[in-house]
Amino acid sequence: MEVEPQYLCYYLIMRYKIKPIKRLGQNFLIDKSIISKVIKAAELKPANIVLEIGPGIGALTQKIAKRAGKVIAVEKDKKMCQILKQVLRDFKNVEIINQDILKFKIQNSKLIQNSKFKIQNYKLVANLPFYITAPVIRKFLESENPPKEMILIIQKEVAQRICARPPKMSILAVSVQFYSKAKIISYISNKSFWPKPKVDSAIIKIVPKRKYKDVDVDLFFKIVKAGFAHPRKQLANNLANGLKLNKQEINDLLLKNNIKPSQRAETLSIKDWIKLSKML
Ligand code: SAM
Repeated sequence: MEVEPQYLCYYLIMRYKIKPIKRLGQNFLIDKSIISKVIKAAELKPANIVLEIGPGIGALTQKIAKRAGKVIAVEKDKKMCQILKQVLRDFKNVEIINQDILKFKIQNSKLIQNSKFKIQNYKLVANLPFYITAPVIRKFLESENPPKEMILIIQKEVAQRICARPPKMSILAVSVQFYSKAKIISYISNKSFWPKPKVDSAIIKIVPKRKYKDVDVDLFFKIVKAGFAHPRKQLANNLANGLKLNKQEINDLLLKNNIKPSQRAETLSIKDWIKLSKML
């Protein structure tokens, strides 16, 4: 039986006498319409495996389990896992794993090992605890087995930074857009969560791209980091200092790529950074 999200919360407080743990980013979704938006954005089919991070008390998990073939739900809080087992007892296609997502390897899931489901077919869905947003996105984008797509609830401002375009790029935007296409699906008021967080959120969809074959990834990020070292300073100065290269050489290289040495790093596109990394 499916339980309404707000009742799930009352149930949690009354029966288990539990208070949400701030340190674990426990802000539970209590707005049905937002849960529906996440589910719609995920376009789930029975052939999909869903990896859900931080299922909490299972409000989103129940809906996912109805549509996807299998759900692997990774939750760090042991007490939540006990509640989840209760809430999800009627759903036989859910595997609950009590682990930190940053230490989790999808290949170790029993569901993946013992079923016809292909690892390449998995989608990541999460109302992410804010404190692990960046490490989670990095982990899955850089993974040998990246998900087909990620549908995440994250802080609104972080979502906007991830999806920014020149002249508003940042290291975060370059790092995510190098590996994927990202777009904001919808904004969410902080009133949709219990307890209410200080900031608003957004649903973001991140679709990993095929990896660039001819780009040296380490060099690419070395150059990007050097370029953004002092975001207010001119690109040519940052690159010359960070890469310990001659300023004139850097100026020539930038001009050859139609980039003015006086530009700031935030004005460069992913293509610009790739061109630079190939020439350096
Ligand atoms: N999915 C639920 C919902 O939408 O109502 C809960 C979302 S709540 C924002 C984040 C959840 O992630 C919490 O249940 C928390 O215990 C869990 N969590 C926090 N850190 C985690 C980690 N490192 N690995 C896995 N789960 C984590």
